[in-house]
Amino acid sequence: MPVFDNWIAERTKGFDSSGIRRMFDLAAKLKDPINLSIGQPDFDVPPAVKAELIRAVENGKNGYAATQGMPVLRDKLQAEIDQQFGHDDRETFVCSGTSGGLFLSVLALVNPGDEVIYFDPFFVMYPAMIEMAGGKSVKISSYPEFKIDIEKVEAAITEKTKMIILNSPSNPTGICPTANEIKAVAELAYQRGICLVSDEIYSKFTYDQPHVSAATYNPDTIVIDGFSKTYAMTGWRVGYVHGPSKLMQTMLKIQQYTFVCAPQPAQWAGAVALDTDMSGYVASYKAKRDRMLEGLKDDYEIVKPGGAFYLFPKLPWGTGQEFIEEAIANNLMVIPGNIFSDSDTHFRISYAVDDAVVERGIETLCRIARGKVASA
Ligand code: PMP
Repeated sequence: MPVFDNWIAERTKGFDSSGIRRMFDLAAKLKDPINLSIGQPDFDVPPAVKAELIRAVENGKNGYAATQGMPVLRDKLQAEIDQQFGHDDRETFVCSGTSGGLFLSVLALVNPGDEVIYFDPFFVMYPAMIEMAGGKSVKISSYPEFKIDIEKVEAAITEKTKMIILNSPSNPTGICPTANEIKAVAELAYQRGICLVSDEIYSKFTYDQPHVSAATYNPDTIVIDGFSKTYAMTGWRVGYVHGPSKLMQTMLKIQQYTFVCAPQPAQWAGAVALDTDMSGYVASYKAKRDRMLEGLKDDYEIVKPGGAFYLFPKLPWGTGQEFIEEAIANNLMVIPGNIFSDSDTHFRISYAVDDAVVERGIETLCRIARGKVASA
């Protein structure tokens, strides 16, 4: 055993990312796969946003940004947030992607041994970031309908509960909890003095109802949103956080000594992005969702999602591993549900792909579901 095996810190040992890496390694080997595994938009950054990034770089906006974000972006965000919520004490800062904001919230608030409640299925980063902070994950199953059962949340609260994380629209299910479900969690957290962190990165991708922020019902909510998905800027690393100023100042202090800032040119571009109409892109994703649901309805059980760009169907047969192997044998990539869950009963489809790929995906998925039935 090499000596450096002993150097690795305990906090890194409770989680791994090998499942996802294995998927991407497999993907690299397939030729022209039907790739429904990707968690980012298939459209490119809008032209005006790209042009502003280039302009910023050429105009020398290449140094460190202010820790809290460049005024060109931050002031605009603050004005939008003030108008939307009208809270006395709701301050924003720009962070290094939504991931950066999530991580800062946990580092700022979770003490070793503190419990953090979130819903299963969940975004893959949650267990890892909680573990890194020394916290303990308390997962609440939302199967089979992916609804929030407030009684289960109440029952999960203990003296050690520090935080509840809510994600709407959700990755991996695409589900948007109803306004009543969100209100119930927000009010419960408020009454019980528990910090609510609301991951709203897919907030602009809602298809049936307008997005509902948990902060509407709980002024102490920490909201984390970002530019990655809305403007297809996943590689530019810009997100933002808003919440009570004391909490924001603490998170900023950690940002200063960790991420430092979000990339400056991308912040100038982000300010232009806020003025860019994305409704055409969102409408096209709604159409893709509807086409997928229609195409798969005879062969898969799927809870209709109201947002993001994912479906989370039930496996038609076998384990996740068996199903994924069959998918790969058919040149199709989807993600097994157990990457996002303690259960191995579903899989994730991303429909953020060209319409032709949606069609190939439907055809192949139906064939896989039926093939096994025929051979069983
Ligand atoms: N939260 C959720 C639910 C996500 O799906 C993602 C990206 N897949 C993130 C946060 C992180 O996004 P980013 O860091 O690119 O802003």
